[in-house]
Amino acid sequence: MAIQNFNPEGKYSKASVLSNDAYISGILKGDRSILSRAITLIESNNPLHHQQADELISACLPHSGKAFRLGITGVPGVGKSTFIETFGALLIKKEYKVAVLAIDPSSGRSKGSILGDKTRMASLATNDNAFIRPSPSADAFGGVARKTRETIMLCEAAGYDFIIVETVGVGQSETAIKSMVDFFLLLLLPGAGDELQGIKRGIVEMADMLVINKTDGELKNSAKRAKLDYKNALHLFPPTESGWEVKVLTCSATEETGLTDILKQLDKYQSEMTKSGYSKTLRQKQNEYWLSESLFDALKMDFLSNKEIKSKLEQLKSEVSQGKISPFKASEYLISLYKKLAK
Ligand code: GDP
Repeated sequence: MAIQNFNPEGKYSKASVLSNDAYISGILKGDRSILSRAITLIESNNPLHHQQADELISACLPHSGKAFRLGITGVPGVGKSTFIETFGALLIKKEYKVAVLAIDPSSGRSKGSILGDKTRMASLATNDNAFIRPSPSADAFGGVARKTRETIMLCEAAGYDFIIVETVGVGQSETAIKSMVDFFLLLLLPGAGDELQGIKRGIVEMADMLVINKTDGELKNSAKRAKLDYKNALHLFPPTESGWEVKVLTCSATEETGLTDILKQLDKYQSEMTKSGYSKTLRQKQNEYWLSESLFDALKMDFLSNKEIKSKLEQLKSEVSQGKISPFKASEYLISLYKKLAK
């Protein structure tokens, strides 16, 4: 069944690429190890794998789309992995199959990642009804977020009906995550305003729910104050497109309090949004967003991989920096060259 050997870095190893028939039947059976290998194929930087990966995603598409997709963000240390570990256990108790994916803009082979390394969420990782996948590396071909979006589809085809996508609340990947989830949850620390937590206002504005974690022990009182502060701050924000009222909740991931209330709100959101039709509209909009993203990615790649364009671009860059030609004129020239070459 194996047709060639590879690993995501493009080096050849003992791991092997299967045929798409083998991937698809394994995925549909919910085989975690095949699912993992299929994701590795999708994340591969090796151009030889791209066509197979595209075909695999297309084959999984009709089996995807049925999960609830929850995005979670928050600064490092807020308790994301602890929260996902305990909240994930609650979901499994409610008979969900849970997949946890990550988008870590900092993850790369040399830098190491903030999210998704294998030591996090250790007990969830060993649960038969959970699947945890670290972030694709930041230099992955086509972008980290796109790979995660494709991974969502594979996980859904494998029967995961609750997908958690985690990212770091530092403002680089929130727009991408927002464009692939149904609901976006921002975890906050007690006792510090968002400016102190390094959270940008834009991220607070994107959230469907604010949750103040670590509401336990000595932090309880400051969590209560923070809840009031955030509630007041939310009044100043424009109403959400969905008509959903953004709530501020508190929880303790370590003491496992407040988690059921969070889940209740998610259930409420899902039933209200299904009823109003917003869920469907949102996913349609997200598909349109990803169509443009993929299109612009592909165009950019095609443009920049052209040798003549590349050398002209270098020359024009230096002319632009010396003020010999305007940036606008230079880009116009490159576009007309690209069009001429395409004929
Ligand atoms: P992440 O970087 O956002 O994934 O945060 P972690 O889940 O790694 O948690 C950072 C630290 O906060 C760890 O020492 C956790 O034990 C602690 N922590 C997480 N959740 C809670 C909580 O609800 N209460 C308290 N007191 N500590 C917590």
